[in-house]
Amino acid sequence: MAQYWISHTCGHSRTIQIYGKGTEPQRKIEWFEWCETQECPQCCAAKEREIEAAKRSEDKRKAAEAQVIVETKIAGIPKPSRPSCHPREAHPGCHWNGKYYGNDNYGYRYYADGVSYPLSDDDYKACMDYRKAMDVYNTQIEQAKKAVA
Ligand SMILES: [Zn+2]
Repeated sequence: MAQYWISHTCGHSRTIQIYGKGTEPQRKIEWFEWCETQECPQCCAAKEREIEAAKRSEDKRKAAEAQVIVETKIAGIPKPSRPSCHPREAHPGCHWNGKYYGNDNYGYRYYADGVSYPLSDDDYKACMDYRKAMDVYNTQIEQAKKAVA
């Protein structure tokens, strides 16, 4: 049995007992010599924790940065303004199923809280234009979110 004194590169040192005979202790001594080129296990572990923590905060920073990019992009996309003839504008707070009924010959109407309201052709067109504009808007929002995801 022999004692081996390892001084690590971090300045810490420790004593290790070597048991046995033959080539086995020799291999251990080689390993101990390699240990001397390293920091002690505590310092290695501390360094790993530090790297992990740095990686986590870097990930957080990147996520926050991506979030800002998305928000800036979204803020830059002009949101279509709802025409005043739109069911939600004309009857705020009322239940509307999101549907328009009718055709070009007989005109269009919608139901708010079960009451039928007619839409002039121009108003219907304005509501349809708004619907299309909102589709485009929502697609742009989705794309902005996906671009950084
Ligand atoms: Zn150390």
